[in-house]
Amino acid sequence: MTGGVSEGEEGVTLDLLKMKMADFAKERDWDRFHSPRNLLLALVGEVGELSEIFQWRGEVPRGLPGWKEEEKQHLGEELSDVLLYLVRLSDICGIDLGKAALRKVGLNALKYPVGVCKAYSSSKYGGKDHIVGSQSNGSES
Ligand SMILES: [Mg+2]
Repeated sequence: MTGGVSEGEEGVTLDLLKMKMADFAKERDWDRFHSPRNLLLALVGEVGELSEIFQWRGEVPRGLPGWKEEEKQHLGEELSDVLLYLVRLSDICGIDLGKAALRKVGLNALKYPVGVCKAYSSSKYGGKDHIVGSQSNGSES
């Protein structure tokens, strides 16, 4: 990729990552390898590498307490690999990933109305007001 690591550190956008990935491939003449199928398989491979980090650890608490800094750095690298291939795959397929993701959030909101989901969660978790995706203070078990 061109530019220093500091470029775009603040306010990283999907468009910036898309441009960086396009430049990265072009500079190395790797465009010819970046077919949708190849990128999808690369993405799946990276999801596998990400999965390896969590494999055999059992359930892991939010914030990863007790993890070493190098383990967290490795996790960040594998998460980035997944994101970068996803961004590249979307670009090569002509999909505006940001717009598609926002549309999908809207569709999910229609599919899972707040009132219905909260009522279901309350009954499922024995009356506890458990909301999936809410910030945890670590007291949940
Ligand atoms: Mg990787």
